[in-house]
Amino acid sequence: MSQARPPATSGPAPGLDTRAVHEGALDPRPLGAVSTPVFASANFEYHGEPYHDVGYLRLSNSPNHAVLHRRIASLEGTEDSLVTGSGMAAISAALFTFLEAGDHVLVQDVVYGGTQNLLQQDLPRFGITHTRVDPQDPDSWQAALTPRSRMFYVETLTNPLCQMADLEAVVGFAKEHGLVSMIDNTFASPVLCRPAELGFDLVMESATKYMNGHNDLVAGVISGTAPRVRLLKLMLDHLGGSLDPHACVLLERGLKTIGLRVRRQSANALALARFLEGRPEIARVHYPGLPSHPQHARASRLLEGGFGGMIAFEMREGGEAADRFADRLTLPTVAASLGGVESLIVRPAAAIHSGLPAEAREEQGISEGLMRFSTGIEAAGDLVADFTQAFA
Ligand code: PLP
Repeated sequence: MSQARPPATSGPAPGLDTRAVHEGALDPRPLGAVSTPVFASANFEYHGEPYHDVGYLRLSNSPNHAVLHRRIASLEGTEDSLVTGSGMAAISAALFTFLEAGDHVLVQDVVYGGTQNLLQQDLPRFGITHTRVDPQDPDSWQAALTPRSRMFYVETLTNPLCQMADLEAVVGFAKEHGLVSMIDNTFASPVLCRPAELGFDLVMESATKYMNGHNDLVAGVISGTAPRVRLLKLMLDHLGGSLDPHACVLLERGLKTIGLRVRRQSANALALARFLEGRPEIARVHYPGLPSHPQHARASRLLEGGFGGMIAFEMREGGEAADRFADRLTLPTVAASLGGVESLIVRPAAAIHSGLPAEAREEQGISEGLMRFSTGIEAAGDLVADFTQAFA
């Protein structure tokens, strides 16, 4: 039976772009296939394995899963990784694995809405509480600690303003107080940031976004040391959040171009952010690659090869003007989600953050006229031209 090839132990380590194409490929190639075939089999022959290792798709152990686990661990710079049925499946599996009744989590003040809902609406029923902390003010974190604090949860770049927490201080604080540090790296992807290298214990990504990059599947991934990933897998086996092998193959294909895509998206986003900053219709542009961004210095130090594809900008004339502007754009589609090769635009107050009360949106800096733009791989000049005609 073919196995996912283990990492090479001799010779110079290949670069990220090479590993994105080759790491963990099946060895030998099944029937010589250049691309990993879909192993469309729910179950595999039994050879006396213990329950969690029986060949069965819910147990995330098909050859398609094995390839992704090796490849993604290599990209994240961790010992192991686990793919899941969605980004939220990765987050919920991690919280249920490393927390128990009575435990408490320190959470960055703004996190993805699904994560916030899970923490706020579901986990308290299981006795798990959290406190939101200011990610820019490490001196304030001590006051949030309780004797049962177990985890510190942050995001590399937040949605939609691309705020960047003091990540090094988060790792230091978590180590000092025996907390598991967990980070959602979705907006950055391993191309721009590998939080495990900074010392984070658990790195998750919604692979729906940059990892797959083609807006054609939902998946998640979580990476860390082999013992932690083993515990996560046992929990995921029980929760039932495994990824289908057809989606595994699509994700593997998407991953092969992640370096090319994310660097191109970052270059496009920088060009567009600079253009937007010069427009009279725009009150403010939020992009970590601009010197005007409050964490530009930190982003320049901790991100590599670009500042990501996500831009937020505020239309001076408010929500209706923003909607009219979006309607006049011809290249981007008005849609939620992000990270794909095609540009998308959305007005958070009217769509992805419409469930939040107005005061909560204001507290998070989400004004009525704020737009979020997920930059695709189109030619930068065409995007700028499209924006120019939409302003006109
Ligand atoms: N984390 C972030 C930053 C996200 O933007 C999303 C989805 O938009 C998720 C997690 C959840 O991922 P999924 O939709 O794949 O479950």
